[in-house]
Amino acid sequence: MGRKCKIFEGYAFTQKKDREDTNVWTCSKKNCNGRIVFCNGTMTSSSPHISQCVPKSTREQQRNMLRHNAKRKATDDLSSRPLKIARQLLNVQGAQCSELCSKDLDLVRRSIHRERHKSWPEIPKSREELDKFLLAAFEEKSIKTSMGELFLYRSDSGMYMFTCETNLRMMSLCTSLMGDGTFDRAIQHSCQLYTIHGYKDGYHIPLAFFPLNGKSEEL
Ligand SMILES: [Zn+2]
Repeated sequence: MGRKCKIFEGYAFTQKKDREDTNVWTCSKKNCNGRIVFCNGTMTSSSPHISQCVPKSTREQQRNMLRHNAKRKATDDLSSRPLKIARQLLNVQGAQCSELCSKDLDLVRRSIHRERHKSWPEIPKSREELDKFLLAAFEEKSIKTSMGELFLYRSDSGMYMFTCETNLRMMSLCTSLMGDGTFDRAIQHSCQLYTIHGYKDGYHIPLAFFPLNGKSEEL
């Protein structure tokens, strides 16, 4: 989780020390010496900013603040939609976001997306890399649903299946099951995505997914 951020006289500061009585904040601009110290809520000392460091417009400050807090929240809470996080913070921060418009919200949403992207695994570039990735994910049990259920299984022959216990239970309750493969909509570096759909109460529900290497019907 990132550090706390605050705006003071048009400059963005990042918190360095947070003790009960003393708070030290340093300028968020790289290589700037700007620094402020607060003691029991009152500023007790400050160091000047470098000449290249200029205060930002109110709108820019508000957007930076929202962006900073949104990025913190987005890495703690990985499943909420970026725009939802930005809107929630906008409501909480209220007056501190008075100058922002929907364009700013969109910029914040994109920053959240970029921030989360940093923690994603690299996309496999070949079939071999995909196999390696899936094997590691299977062994580490790292692919889970938002409910925390395991979502990747592997057969003894090395075939992978994306599904979870809830889906498998649902499968046993379905009145009929159908399987079909799609070739043009497959996971990258696999030839087809074979899906098992269950039929229950008038709905067809996709329940299990198999990335397959071959296109042949008998796979
Ligand atoms: Zn500065």
